[in-house]
Amino acid sequence: MAQSKERPVVDRKSRLQIPAQHIEKQAPNARIHNWSEVYLPISLETAKVEAERCIQCPAAPCQAACPVSNDIPGALWQLEHGDVIGAANIFHETNNMSDMCGRLCPQERLCEGHCVVGKKAKPVAIGRLEAFVADAWRIEVRTLKAAPDTGRHIAIIGAGPAGLTVAEELGRRGHNCTIFDAWPSPGGVLRYGIPDFKLQKEVVDDWLERLSELPVEFKMNTRVGAGEPITVDGLIADGYDAVFLGHGASDGNDLEVEGAELTGVMQATEFLSRGNLPPDQLPEIMRDTLFVGRRVVVIGGGDTSMDCARTAVRLGASDVTLVYRRTETEMVGREEERQHAREEGVRFEFLCAPVKFLGTSAGRVRAVDLQRMELGPPDESGRRRPQPVTGSDFTLEADSVVLAIGYSADTEVPASAAGVQYDKWGVISVDRETGETNRPGVFAGGDDINGADLVVTAVRDAKISSRSMLAYLAALDAKPQTVAS
Ligand SMILES: Cc1cc2nc3c(=O)[nH]c(=O)nc-3n(C[C@H](O)[C@H](O)[C@H](O)COP(=O)(O)OP(=O)(O)OC[C@H]3O[C@@H](n4cnc5c(N)ncnc54)[C@H](O)[C@@H]3O)c2cc1C
Repeated sequence: MAQSKERPVVDRKSRLQIPAQHIEKQAPNARIHNWSEVYLPISLETAKVEAERCIQCPAAPCQAACPVSNDIPGALWQLEHGDVIGAANIFHETNNMSDMCGRLCPQERLCEGHCVVGKKAKPVAIGRLEAFVADAWRIEVRTLKAAPDTGRHIAIIGAGPAGLTVAEELGRRGHNCTIFDAWPSPGGVLRYGIPDFKLQKEVVDDWLERLSELPVEFKMNTRVGAGEPITVDGLIADGYDAVFLGHGASDGNDLEVEGAELTGVMQATEFLSRGNLPPDQLPEIMRDTLFVGRRVVVIGGGDTSMDCARTAVRLGASDVTLVYRRTETEMVGREEERQHAREEGVRFEFLCAPVKFLGTSAGRVRAVDLQRMELGPPDESGRRRPQPVTGSDFTLEADSVVLAIGYSADTEVPASAAGVQYDKWGVISVDRETGETNRPGVFAGGDDINGADLVVTAVRDAKISSRSMLAYLAALDAKPQTVAS
């Protein structure tokens, strides 16, 4: 039974009696001394029993809540019967990055948040089970085979989840894909943002191996955009048959506060990359040793800020404070990540915002002046707007400050593609049904059309664009290959 349409008849009552399986985590005082993932591996037996807790409800609200519409009951049915690769294949039909999404999705507001079992007991641990079967697939199957060469050439800008998914989808069908990326190694935020304790880099490296037998070429350390030697218009003029823009939203938003230029005040991406990666995987300008110090202040309230705070703990900081201008209720990130951060000793200062960074005579940050806030009427995001409380200033000493206050997309990429429309934050307009921009043959997906979002939505967009690109390529007249290798 692999299809979502026909659910097997199961004894729901007895399934609801099966206790939720314990999925072990590393203890906080152990994990702060290593970079391994928080969750420990689970056994096949545990995975099978947990999968059996799924009551195979015909409406499958978990599937409806999944941005890529994974056939979760179908996959869990295979898993409970011991067919791990069969289960992984079902996830792969709709999600090219099951291994990442199983670990990284905010399941509590997606699949698990809609699990019917969860109304009376703990929801089925769908995320951990997805990661479990995807890991088995990576180890046992590893590579994908390509269809015969079509002679078509595709340019993909960005080697993050969106670009890599398009490369897999088109490469498997015999289209030649060239991925251009500004950083030294592929993976996008999976490598240059998300820390190892959430996603081990070997999972990303293993994932990339699946492309090794496909016609996919990487041109790393290669920035594309207006003013660069390579532009989107230039790629089309060179004869690429279609282009996918998957350059994400990686420009960290600046904080217009006095002292933001001091040494030791860093953007989240710089801090996370330098803190998590060996120098040879970093651009040359980022390779010198990262000084963190004992006291670290992280500004921001999303998952990125939590990643920064927990990275600071692992880098040896003993006094890590997360500063957020609203309350915990308005925080957009995962509750589980906040819990992990608290367990690891991160302190939270809600309802306050920085007004000034103070420096030493040598120009290094030494403290942050903060001001208390109170919540006023809702703003355009629907959340109550923070308003300063007069006379409430206080100072926190800091050896380093990390800014994690959101990301915008790089406008230079669409600016180099005549006809492609985008707004002042760099967010590209596409037809949401097809992923096509205003320029025929140029498609886009991921954070560059959503603003900073999720891995799973990047995969979803890339799948939509891939389908349209296949149709677009099929409709092109036979055309000689014109791209120089
Ligand atoms: C610290 C952090 C933690 C996160 N945690 C989670 C999480 O737990 N769960 C979750 O689902 N999501 C998380 N996200 C969000 C998620 O990683 C992104 O939504 C996802 O990576 C978007 O994929 P993408 O392919 O659109 O872009 P990206 O992953 O940003 O990849 C874009 C690629 O394009 C390249 N690029 C950019 N500009 C150019 C250019 N001009 N020329 C050439 N190449 C260029 C970049 O180098 C990059 O490799 C997190 C994000 C961050 C920053």
